[in-house]
Amino acid sequence: MIKISCVKETPFDYAKHSSIGCGGSAIGAYYPKSVEEIESLVGALLGAKKPFITLGNLTNVLPPDGESQTSVVSTKLLTGIERTDCGVFALAGVTSGALLKACKAWNLSGAEFLAGIPCTLGGALYMNAGVSGEYIAEITESVTVLRGGKLVVLDVADCGYAYKSSVFMRSNDVIVGAHLRLQRENQENISEKLQKYHVKRAHLPKGKSMGCVFKNPTGALAGKLIEGAGLKGLRVGGAVVSEIHANFIINDKNATATQIKTLIGLIKNAVFAQYKIRLEEEIRYLP
Ligand SMILES: Cc1cc2nc3c(=O)[nH]c(=O)nc-3n(C[C@H](O)[C@H](O)[C@H](O)COP(=O)(O)OP(=O)(O)OC[C@H]3O[C@@H](n4cnc5c(N)ncnc54)[C@H](O)[C@@H]3O)c2cc1C
Repeated sequence: MIKISCVKETPFDYAKHSSIGCGGSAIGAYYPKSVEEIESLVGALLGAKKPFITLGNLTNVLPPDGESQTSVVSTKLLTGIERTDCGVFALAGVTSGALLKACKAWNLSGAEFLAGIPCTLGGALYMNAGVSGEYIAEITESVTVLRGGKLVVLDVADCGYAYKSSVFMRSNDVIVGAHLRLQRENQENISEKLQKYHVKRAHLPKGKSMGCVFKNPTGALAGKLIEGAGLKGLRVGGAVVSEIHANFIINDKNATATQIKTLIGLIKNAVFAQYKIRLEEEIRYLP
């Protein structure tokens, strides 16, 4: 591992750290705690030409089986949030829960749709996370990234946001933090909104998953197509299509990543055979 003064973990156990609870291990993980630490860490990794991937809560990723030679830059300790004139500036490792707690304390509204999404801010900005037509892109003013090891502030217009898509999927940027634009609101109304989003999510499947596996194709819901193709309950080894929400794959019996990938392939083929629609993964495959 690179000699650098930040918390390290060797190896990094994917089954332990990911919400899907499967996979082998990465060679190791670094946990920078400040902008200065992540800047020097990324500079050192780039300088040494060491492959790495930046990860938050690992709630939308399928790790590989076996031992990966890629290092993980975890943003879990890169937390910190401050109030600004028109919202907040938060670091990439801030979780949705911590963000919403701070916003409520500061009487700031607009991010409540993130309630219950088990993300870090960095993961949400990368994935353009959201629900029911509300996405993080809409409340983002600018995103601070490490691009080629240098800190750069990107206006939201330069982040290439579209449905479950961002420029970060096509760049090697490391998201460090973001300015979010929020409105003043009283705490009672904020609590009501949070409650509304929590209630909406109560029906989601429990257990180890990556959330929705597929993006919704234009004009259709991936979950309905999968259900319509009769795939609820379809199983490969320890991985099964949820009976509650067909766009979720649940790891209920120590599934391997390979079994989950096989199940994803079966779903795509069956949906295409029935509807001539090609489902596209929302989840990201880790190297
Ligand atoms: C039960 C459940 C419910 C879910 N519900 C929703 C939902 O309602 N709506 C929704 O949109 N999603 C949902 N998800 C999916 C997931 O929570 C979101 O996509 C979330 O934004 C991922 O954040 P994360 O911190 O876990 O990112 P990770 O899974 O750690 O990473 C996701 C991707 O972002 C990249 N990334 C992460 N942080 C950085 C960074 N700092 N810099 C550069 N790249 C980075 C990673 O390399 C990876 O490619 C759900 C997941 C689960 C398990």
